[in-house]
Amino acid sequence: MKKTIRDIDVKGKKVIVRCDFNVPQKDGAITDDNRITAALPTITYLIEQGAKVILMSHLGRPKGEPKMEFTLQPVADRLSQLLGKEVKFKSCPEVICDTIKETADSLQEGEVMLLENVRFRKEETENGAEFAKELASLGEIFVQEAFGTAHRAHASTAGIADYLPAVSGFLIEKEVKFLGGAVENPKRPFVAIMGGAKVGDKIPVIESLLKKVDTLIIGGGMSYTFFKAMGLEIGTSILDEENIDLAKALLEKAETAGVKLLLPVDVVCAKEFANETETVVVDREQIPADMMGLDIGPKTIDLYKKALIEAKTIVWNGPAGVFEMPSFARGTRAIAEILAESDAVTVIGGGDSAAAAEQFGLADKMTHISTGGGASLEFLEGKVLPGIAIIEEK
Ligand code: ADP
Ligand code: MG
Repeated sequence: MKKTIRDIDVKGKKVIVRCDFNVPQKDGAITDDNRITAALPTITYLIEQGAKVILMSHLGRPKGEPKMEFTLQPVADRLSQLLGKEVKFKSCPEVICDTIKETADSLQEGEVMLLENVRFRKEETENGAEFAKELASLGEIFVQEAFGTAHRAHASTAGIADYLPAVSGFLIEKEVKFLGGAVENPKRPFVAIMGGAKVGDKIPVIESLLKKVDTLIIGGGMSYTFFKAMGLEIGTSILDEENIDLAKALLEKAETAGVKLLLPVDVVCAKEFANETETVVVDREQIPADMMGLDIGPKTIDLYKKALIEAKTIVWNGPAGVFEMPSFARGTRAIAEILAESDAVTVIGGGDSAAAAEQFGLADKMTHISTGGGASLEFLEGKVLPGIAIIEEK
């Protein structure tokens, strides 16, 4: 078990927290502050415990230069509003300067400051020891709270822990508990649903999950590459040509591993990739040559439902259809509804699947929605994430 902020005494200590404040912006205004609100429980806890809180994050890709379009000033402002207290911020192009050191040194218990975008320094993504040491020198304890970048060994996500004791914040604790718990020690039956557009992106995850799950459900755009591998005609459906052989190999692996692999048995097809268009539902053997499959059909929903109803752990990554268009959202919605009603541990990893659950108003019915796209895939793949590895064990 990883140590968390609950396991240590933070009172009066300078605690440096790596957050993921990489929020989307338009014309300098934050368009979605989910990533900021997600870190509030950890920040508030530290304030209440009397820690001196030093926050840091990256934002966008300034490529190691102090490009002001990527300043964290808007985040400091929004965070001040949300916390109802001042978040001290100074845009220092070097991230750390004399003013920053003085501010950190003179922080009172319960006070909060935010550093400038750590990617203003090129040593950040190179995991430069000097920069890691400089960051570490500001605090006494390091708190990892940035799951979205935990799969990268950067100065502020990994290197810093060479110089400070490292524990996890509440967000990371949840990711490790549910995402890690699902793949390491799942309650069975363990069912994974993989969907989304391309097989190529997710092959390593599918391979790794095949060793762990009881049932693997495949839906979404990647189904058609599997259909092709099975010798079916797929019309103009999305195809990951390079990976047909791999799909074939995965089908064989599932068989050898004794994993039940479910693919769609019927699909919703259309001539164009558009919402306002005529649709037909056909069995998978009957996809018309001039049509593309854009959602799973009703027989498939029933088939998946039977497998999901028995599950005790469900991991879902990738939508079952083009859920962004209402005409092809039914399959994805059905999956989200089954998960929402399920007593199983339900974990969503994947930006678009999470967005789908959100869109259907079912996000709060899931056990856990991972905050990291790439990081959650690597976690499911069974990889060691550098930003998690550095957290001390209890
Ligand atoms: P996630 O972000 O949850 O990991 P992906 O990024 O892999 O998911 O895939 C999401 C995309 O896959 C969505 O934009 C969705 O429209 C698309 N998709 C799903 N099914 C199909 C399909 N049959 N044809 C084309 N695109 C599809
Ligand atoms: Mg995606």
